[in-house]
Amino acid sequence: MYTEDDFFQISALQHYVYCPRQCALIHVEDVWHDNVYTVRGDILHEKVDTDTYESRGTIKTVRGLKIHSFRLGISGRCDVVEVLNGQARMPVQRGALIRPVEFKSGEPKEDISDKVQLCAQALCLEEMMNTSVTHGAFFYAKIRRRVQVEIDEELRKQTKEIIASVRELITNRRTPAAEYSAKCRNCSLEPICLPKAMSDRKLKSYLKILYLS
Ligand code: SF4
Repeated sequence: MYTEDDFFQISALQHYVYCPRQCALIHVEDVWHDNVYTVRGDILHEKVDTDTYESRGTIKTVRGLKIHSFRLGISGRCDVVEVLNGQARMPVQRGALIRPVEFKSGEPKEDISDKVQLCAQALCLEEMMNTSVTHGAFFYAKIRRRVQVEIDEELRKQTKEIIASVRELITNRRTPAAEYSAKCRNCSLEPICLPKAMSDRKLKSYLKILYLS
C-alpha cells in the first residue's frame, strides 16, 4: 500500500506511453509548455470538470470526481462517472454499477494512452467504491462520437505494467535522452526538449565529455 505522498497523477501514464522523456520532463523536472493540442484539451476540460452531478432516468452523472488508489499509488480526476443503478443520493455508494467517461478534443488514438488512462480510473473507482468496473467510454469531440471500451484483463495488465514503469522513472529521477520521431511534431515540449539537436550523436558525445571532464 502507498501513502498520499507517493501518489503520482494518472496523466503521467499517458505521457509515458506517448514518450518516456515527455513523462520525465513533466513529472520529474516540472516542465510544461502549451501548444494548440493542450490548449484545446484545457478548454474542453474547463467545460467538463465542473464538480457537479445530475440525474437522467436511472443514470446519474457525476462530473469532476477526484479519484485515487492506495494500492497503485495514483490519483486523478474523472471527467464524468456514470452511475448506472440510479442511486438517489450523493456521494456514490459502495458497490454501485459505475462507468468512467473521458472527453477528448481529438479522435481515437493509435496507441493505448487513452485506454490506459481510462483503465487506471476504473482501477481507482473499483478500490474506492468496492465495485467492479467492466466498461468505460470516451467522447471524442472531433468526430462527435462516443466509443465504449471494455476494461478487460489484458488492458488491466498493460496499465499496471505502465504504472510500474512510471513509478520507476519518477523514483529514479532520470530523464531519458531525446529520440527524434514523428511524435515530436505534435509534442508541446518540442521547443524545450529540442529532440533534433539532442538526438545528434556529436552533441551527445560532446555532453558526455563535458560531464566526465
Ligand atoms: S519532443 Fe519528442 S523526444 Fe522530446 S519529449 Fe516530445 S515526443 Fe519526446
